[in-house]
Amino acid sequence: MGVRLVSCFAFLCAALAASACITAAPHRAAAGATVAPLSPTPLAPPSQADGATVAAPASPTPTWTPDGWRPPPGDAIFDTSPGAPPITHGDRAVPAVYLTFDDGYGFGEEVLAILRQKHAPATACFAGSFMPRNPSFIRHWVEAGFSVCNHTYWHGNLTRLTDPTGDPAKDEPHRFANVQAELTTTVDKLHEYAPDARVLPLFRPPYGAYDDLVSRAAAAAGYRIVLWSLDPEDWRPATTAVALRDRVLAQARPGDIIVFHFERHATVEALPAIIDGLRAKGLEPRGLESLALP
Ligand SMILES: [Zn+2]
Repeated sequence: MGVRLVSCFAFLCAALAASACITAAPHRAAAGATVAPLSPTPLAPPSQADGATVAAPASPTPTWTPDGWRPPPGDAIFDTSPGAPPITHGDRAVPAVYLTFDDGYGFGEEVLAILRQKHAPATACFAGSFMPRNPSFIRHWVEAGFSVCNHTYWHGNLTRLTDPTGDPAKDEPHRFANVQAELTTTVDKLHEYAPDARVLPLFRPPYGAYDDLVSRAAAAAGYRIVLWSLDPEDWRPATTAVALRDRVLAQARPGDIIVFHFERHATVEALPAIIDGLRAKGLEPRGLESLALP
């Protein structure tokens, strides 16, 4: 399996060490600035090739345990065995889209307020090292009943980890152990702030960068990789709220997993219109705990 390298704050982090990345200040609006909601663009309903009525979204069926969400028997969503392929989207026959927000600082409270007001669940892919920047938000997210997926602790490129001794023979075991440590320390940090956090057995590698070893190490730690099928590029500083709204509403189709970030004010500005527009297209926003796979 090849290495995938895609967005996820790449503009900040691509050439930087993880430690440098997390100290980069997010773009913020002036204190007290109000967010003017955008009007949703009028949209045609989703086209159906055969004209058939689309079934209602499947109701969430995972079971919450003290260790996190656990699937009903046979639920392929939560197949975390080695070799299970990364998830990029849900069932295209289900008229739902899955909202995910990466990283964990910046405009989290603003995003959460909109999601609650719109009764739109979502999943946060938190990076452990970002949590101390906004611990009350982490707690509020969990208290709202929204789920969490694992986005590693240091938010580095897991395909590029090398053994500190410089011995290439040690790189692979070093990397395997470190991927697992990234995942477990993130949950430990999360539970410091939110002991009741609903941690899905899903892991989003930073930048979408993974290879076979990352996938195997994640599986050994009980996680399956989750990527996305729609990246409206809110991580690009040049992306405006209008462009973001228009991209999502033009491209979204049933089953999409959409990746947003908590760090962009444009995301906050566009989110109300995005949620309204998705519903106007017949696409109900959901969290990954409700993901129905093809
Ligand atoms: Zn990220």
